[in-house]
Amino acid sequence: APERETLTWELFGTASRELAEMVADDGYRADIVLAIARGGLFVAGALGYALDVKNLHVANVEFYTGVDERLPVPIMLPPVPNALDLSGAKVLVADDVADTGATLKLVRDFCAGVVADVRCAVVYEKPHSTVECEYVWRRTDRWINFPWSTEPPVVQREGQVLDA
Ligand code: 5GP
Repeated sequence: APERETLTWELFGTASRELAEMVADDGYRADIVLAIARGGLFVAGALGYALDVKNLHVANVEFYTGVDERLPVPIMLPPVPNALDLSGAKVLVADDVADTGATLKLVRDFCAGVVADVRCAVVYEKPHSTVECEYVWRRTDRWINFPWSTEPPVVQREGQVLDA
């Protein structure tokens, strides 16, 4: 297996700050940061603070089932962002990585015709991505380990009866 790219929590702090600087230097003043859950939530939160945008929205997209294992197409799960809330806004879509680009394409298409402007900010973009993001921190063709998903979920207890 090819070597992996590792993003630590420490490096994520640097990456998100530098990504915000790219957006600011470009003069793009977003009204809304649209996070792609779940990985994009970390990026969106960091960009929201760094760019002083308090209006954060979430799109829930399901595509990956494992390392390089995907569903046939990405699907948007509820709650779907309300088109009325995005109407006429300058939107900054935030995600962890553009891999095939299919997830970002779905969200971009969702925004098209509704918003005033939509641009994408990602920590990583892979060379084969069909969507070219406006703001990219680093490019790699490796599988990336993100700090939030490197460890397996914590072991949870059997469901408890809370109202007993
Ligand atoms: P895409 O639709 O661009 O193929 O994939 C986007 C989503 O797939 C990302 O938001 C992420 O959740 C997942 N993904 C794609 N490539 C990687 C990767 O290299 N590492 C990890 N951890 N997740 C990935």
